[in-house]
Amino acid sequence: MTLRIETLGALILRQPAAEVDRFDDELRFLVDRMFETMYRADGQGLAAPQVGRSVRLAIVDVPPGGPDRHVLVNPRILSTSEETAGGIEGCLSIPGVRDVVRRPKSVVIETLTLDGHPFQMWADEELGRCIQHEIDHLEGVLYIDRLSPLKRAMLLKRYQRIHAADRASTSVERLRAEPKP
Ligand code: ZN
Repeated sequence: MTLRIETLGALILRQPAAEVDRFDDELRFLVDRMFETMYRADGQGLAAPQVGRSVRLAIVDVPPGGPDRHVLVNPRILSTSEETAGGIEGCLSIPGVRDVVRRPKSVVIETLTLDGHPFQMWADEELGRCIQHEIDHLEGVLYIDRLSPLKRAMLLKRYQRIHAADRASTSVERLRAEPKP
């Protein structure tokens, strides 16, 4: 069973998520459904707020089906490289558009296993980028917030054009009214 993916304009995408404090079957069940939802949507990362659960939980699989499949529970960034790199990003919550985002090239995080055991992880390249993108989601931050105001406005215009037929146009209006992070 797949979950509904929240899209731009949904308030839950803008709220900092709460820590996971129960490591039970319910959590494992949610993770399974998130993987199913992510694969069905052809994504390589998904954060719980994107499926309507405001908890600090995210999954990544970069590239899909590869060895780098991870569940991140209460992840936090310990350090990032000074060196940055630009790379194309998209988001299942902002379908149809993508843009180049500049981020630290590598990242060290501390996160928990599904049983609640802490471990540290170093990641760079696509995996490092994906992990940073998903941890942003847990803070209510979207990749479009990391674009210059001009590029962000252009992207939102493209998004609005693509989704003109549905409710997306009102979502974009609402997003514009939001304060800058
Ligand atoms: Zn995303």
